Amino acid sequence: MKPARFDYVAPTTLDAAIKALVAANGEGKVMAGGQSLMPLLNLRLSRPALVVDLMKVPGLSFIEDRGKTIAIGALTRHVELEQSELLARKLPVMSAAMRYVAHLAIRNRGTIGGSISHADPAAELPMLAVFHGATIRARGPNGARAIPAEEFFVAALTTCLEAEEIVYEVEFPVLHSVGWGFEEVSRRFGDFALACIALSIECREGVIGAARVGAMGIDDTPRRLRDAEAALVNTRREAAASARFAEAVRNSVSPPSDLHGSSEYRRSLIGALAQRALATAWARTVGEAT
Ligand SMILES: Cc1cc2nc3c(=O)[nH]c(=O)nc-3n(C[C@H](O)[C@H](O)[C@H](O)COP(=O)(O)OP(=O)(O)OC[C@H]3O[C@@H](n4cnc5c(N)ncnc54)[C@H](O)[C@@H]3O)c2cc1C
Repeated sequence: MKPARFDYVAPTTLDAAIKALVAANGEGKVMAGGQSLMPLLNLRLSRPALVVDLMKVPGLSFIEDRGKTIAIGALTRHVELEQSELLARKLPVMSAAMRYVAHLAIRNRGTIGGSISHADPAAELPMLAVFHGATIRARGPNGARAIPAEEFFVAALTTCLEAEEIVYEVEFPVLHSVGWGFEEVSRRFGDFALACIALSIECREGVIGAARVGAMGIDDTPRRLRDAEAALVNTRREAAASARFAEAVRNSVSPPSDLHGSSEYRRSLIGALAQRALATAWARTVGEAT
């Protein structure tokens, strides 16, 4: 199919892009990589009167080391995240996750700002933002605001952004983990995930002192699983602790059923992925895995 008729502008400043959205009076749509927006337009599921292309706005594509955080510009492409040595060192979970995002052709064009704003409940970057406790920065006609990732995602494909607001960067805290794991299952490699979990652990003398668990495909937004995090604290590398962790993960979620899998299947799957992620995280703490 072809999209319904729309006007198109490609402003060269963020302010001009915001002005164009304000003038469109709620009928404007920002376009970044176009990898989610164009299918929606072609299927006429979205019919904006105006498309505001961000690609000519300079200064929105960067990966910046700010010490305790890494800031990533909204127009940074998925492939740049995948190939960044800085991210491999400082945000290894993200670095490992990026090859699961769609296919190379899509990763060459898709952007972090687009993925975060599109808010697909089975997309990796929204989950990674929640997992890390990232801050999403957006600007609109009333100025800039910083939004915690856990408040940003409201429902499937829905965020707290106003129609005239544009995401310009996402800032990720660097976690002090010594072990981490990332596990995902999809029907075919590159498809959206059926279920996915990210885990990081801090430990001392073989005992977990702190843990962080993020999951997606299990709800209509990505989530931190705090009960499952608590279940890991003060545990050692042993089968019983792993089983209790998987149980806590399964009890923390009530996934929807859809044509890709039943709720029971997804719950069972996320528990199995949790145990795999924990085994890998422990292996990393003692140098058994890279
Ligand atoms: C076949 C296929 C498979 C895919 N598989 C996966 C997958 O496995 N995992 C995954 O994570 N993604 C997947 N995707 C989506 C892909 O990652 C997209 O690149 C991403 O979701 C959107 O990024 P984009 O830059 O192309 O955004 P666009 O398509 O340009 O925009 C998407 C939405 O975000 C809004 N938007 C864009 N940028 C901004 C901004 N800076 N501020 C405010 N709003 C903005 C747009 O208005 C639009 O509503 C897949 C896509 C396709 C076509």
